[in-house]
Amino acid sequence: MLNLVKKELIRELLLMGIKSTRVLNAIEKVKREEFVSDELKKMAYDNNALPIDCNQTISQPYTVAFMTELLNVKEGDKVLEIGTGSGYQAAILKELGADVYSIERIAELSEKAKQILEKLGYDVKIKTDDGTKGWAEYSPFDGIIVTAAAPHVPQSLVTQLKIDGRLVIPVGDKYTQKIVLVKKIIEENQEKVTEKHYPDFRFVPLIGEEGWDS
Ligand code: SAM
Repeated sequence: MLNLVKKELIRELLLMGIKSTRVLNAIEKVKREEFVSDELKKMAYDNNALPIDCNQTISQPYTVAFMTELLNVKEGDKVLEIGTGSGYQAAILKELGADVYSIERIAELSEKAKQILEKLGYDVKIKTDDGTKGWAEYSPFDGIIVTAAAPHVPQSLVTQLKIDGRLVIPVGDKYTQKIVLVKKIIEENQEKVTEKHYPDFRFVPLIGEEGWDS
């Protein structure tokens, strides 16, 4: 039964424009039902965000697929996620062969995500902290993905990107955001940062020193 609804979800993501077979395979592989409460398991493969503990959400599968496709993860890439939440996005990154570091500001969520990821065999380094400052100790990163909405792109995260690295982050007000793809490149011997914007997404707020106050 779950396999059928999973196939239906993959079909829907294809129709919505997700092209990366690697991303679609990762979504097919990860058991989303493991990252939600018992009463929501039957909805695990609906293309919707779902509530998790502490008033937070597990993002809509389309949003996860869209952001992951933009991140363009390659086997062995070092990737930092800000906003561990349920741990689902971290599992997707692991299925793509990344070495994953993830930061969550709410201890109850990071502890629970740690347990689930470990149970499912995903080795993710998780800490409870304000992720807007990044994780300097392990930087630079090939990719950084932020799964909560920021008022602007945090400079600490741009600093912690490798050359040719990508940062994918929702930016906007508290009600609606665009997803921003930030690339750090070298052009004419100079380090440059480029941005591409994709409108009309909605996330919970990124709360911290380089995010919202509350
Ligand atoms: N990636 C998650 C998943 O797969 O379930 C979804 C995350 S949820 C949409 C956003 C998360 O960002 C919430 O759990 C929230 O507590 C967390 N968050 C908000 N501000 C943060 C910050 N400054 N540092 C780390 N995590 C933060």
